[in-house]
Amino acid sequence: MKLLLAEDDPALVEYLRPRLKRAGYAVEWADNGVDAEFLAQEESFDVIVLDLGLPQRPGLEVLRNWRAGKLQTPVLILTARDSWQERVDGLKAGADDYLGKPFRFEELAARLEALLRRRFGHADNRLQHGGIILDQDEQTVTTPRGDKLQLTAIEFRLLRYLMLHPGKIVSKTELSEHVYEEEQIKDSNVIEVYINRLRAALGKSSIRTFRGQGYRLDDSQA
Ligand code: CA
Repeated sequence: MKLLLAEDDPALVEYLRPRLKRAGYAVEWADNGVDAEFLAQEESFDVIVLDLGLPQRPGLEVLRNWRAGKLQTPVLILTARDSWQERVDGLKAGADDYLGKPFRFEELAARLEALLRRRFGHADNRLQHGGIILDQDEQTVTTPRGDKLQLTAIEFRLLRYLMLHPGKIVSKTELSEHVYEEEQIKDSNVIEVYINRLRAALGKSSIRTFRGQGYRLDDSQA
């Protein structure tokens, strides 16, 4: 899951980044409004955390520009300006949720999960497909045979992305964009290695390769 963090307070970024990573997000960071606006339009994020008090361009203006440009990505406003009028302004400008500072990470994480559930139309934090059950809280998978396995961070992100797009052929580029961060290794051979590990765990036919196109999660027979 790829997350844009638009926040100019380095201490808060330092606090949030490792926690968001552990929660399974590939995080990109923008420390001003102009970069944030550009990044969200250039790359496809699954969710955005937006501070309102950003240098160069205020968060509210950035949000209005995104929405005027038909950007649909869910946006959670995270801000110290926490009066009811500001919440209303934020929501009217196109925010999907609003959280005042100071906040607990657990609440932010739960709100982000709720936004993503809504976006992908799931009722709870477990994703199911073809006998595979992915528990997003525990980052575990239950295989069609009934074995429960702990996933590594990359395996978890990969499988989650595939499970959120069942029946769709997902290219290596799309997968690596949503699984890795910025300039980390985007070597497509690495994706292949992880896909093979998932296959070994979930059954050979669980993930189908389409030469030159990508991968698709199929109904697996263990
Ligand atoms: Ca700020």
